[in-house]
Amino acid sequence: MTDRKKIIEKSWNFDNSYAGLPKLFFTSLEPTPVSSPELVIFNESLAISLGLNPQELKSNNGLAIFAGNQIPQGAMPLAQAYAGHQFGYFNMLGDGRAVLLGEQITPTEQRFDIQLKGSGRTPYSRGGDGRAVLGPMLREYIISEAMYGLGIPTTRSLAVVTTGESVIRERIEQGAILTRVASSHLRVGTFQYVSKWGTVEELKTLADYSLQRHFPNAVANENPYLFLLQQVIKSQAMLIAKWQLVGFIHGVMNTDNMTISGETIDYGPCAFMNEYKLSTVFSSIDTHGRYTYGNQPSIGTWNLARFAETLLPLLHEDENQAVELARKEISNFTHLCHLNWKAGMRAKLGIFNEEIQDETLIEDLLTMMEKYNADYTNTFVALTFDNCRNEKIFETKEFAQWYELWQSRLKRQQESKELCHELMKNSNPAIIPRNHRVEEALKAANQGDYNVMQELLHVLSTPYKHNNEKAKYSTLPAPSNSPYRTFCGT
Ligand code: AMP
Ligand code: MG
Repeated sequence: MTDRKKIIEKSWNFDNSYAGLPKLFFTSLEPTPVSSPELVIFNESLAISLGLNPQELKSNNGLAIFAGNQIPQGAMPLAQAYAGHQFGYFNMLGDGRAVLLGEQITPTEQRFDIQLKGSGRTPYSRGGDGRAVLGPMLREYIISEAMYGLGIPTTRSLAVVTTGESVIRERIEQGAILTRVASSHLRVGTFQYVSKWGTVEELKTLADYSLQRHFPNAVANENPYLFLLQQVIKSQAMLIAKWQLVGFIHGVMNTDNMTISGETIDYGPCAFMNEYKLSTVFSSIDTHGRYTYGNQPSIGTWNLARFAETLLPLLHEDENQAVELARKEISNFTHLCHLNWKAGMRAKLGIFNEEIQDETLIEDLLTMMEKYNADYTNTFVALTFDNCRNEKIFETKEFAQWYELWQSRLKRQQESKELCHELMKNSNPAIIPRNHRVEEALKAANQGDYNVMQELLHVLSTPYKHNNEKAKYSTLPAPSNSPYRTFCGT
């Protein structure tokens, strides 16, 4: 490693547990310096929660760190190795344009990875330039922070800097680096990598490390690796249900983009749907619709099956029994995800208790929404405020009948109307990062105006506060002949 000057800043409190793992897992290297960085967006509240000093980070020292030009004291930068199934095909991947600076230990003793994304080439770059483009990094910033506001587990965004350098994509673009914060960057793909190229001992080390980091109460467990599988399944079942409940489409659910922590990661061609439609897909490269909205739970099963395969040597010494144990857990995923989704849907409809017919009530509403091209978010907001008018769906006889059934269902619970309204307000966001609003903010930012994005981030930070400032963000885009498309070329 080079002898670059280290920035001494008291609030960084790095520990580097990943750097202590076997050498196979990573390559030590520093980010590649950039010519003239500028801080364009900074997450002050996140910095404070990490125990960092916002003033210091907004100064030239902070800028140098976010740009990868200086290394903060205590950091041991490295690029992580991983593999993954991309659209069903296995590849060797790794941090091709990212560097993990280290793990920040917060004042409350929590551990967060601090990673620079877009920080230059690494041994895992393959043909890539190791760089990232301003628009997509800001997009990740907006959507990850929106997810956080929505209460969905996610990596977060601490800062974006422009590098002052051009990046060549389809056009010449402004280079940028995102500082990403994650409870870890352990992926299903990390296990796939070690399982394929490491020893069983190294696999065990990775599994023990993951348990210690994310599920520390496994210690007393009889079969800690089965426990690991169960916990990852449980957290992914929660995560994907939450995606479904807000209409979030990840867009590229490759196994390298599925975390062990249960956080959403790698905001590439993701987007939120407007009209409720199971076949919604935005990504320009997903030509076969592998990662459509409606497919996300079953892709979750597929990815977790790949995870379970890597754990087989640790699950049981007898291979057949290991397969049996894994199969049983994997078959549970769809059910778990569905239960979480159903509980969330009940809350969206103001229902506290459980009745067997609830599923039909939910399904009937969704079927109607799909039939009448109803906006997913706004339909639930209209129900929340009992303001069902001015939309095609609300003018139908079907809806009137459904509405009667729903009202009588609500009467069959003890909770008051007020409580029911509160539950609905807390379960139905007034705002999601609508694609046209995100595009508008990015367009302004590309021209140097960050106010539109700041305002958008402000409203997205409190999606369950149904106040006037949300109104203009709930309007739909003008009808367009061409569907909204997102791109991976980031
Ligand atoms: P993603 O689509 O962001 O999940 O990335 C898939 C793989 O491609 C990962 O190994 C990335 O590190 C790598 N990658 C993406 N963009 C670049 C780039 N510009 N340079 C080098 N590697 C990249
Ligand atoms: Mg990825």
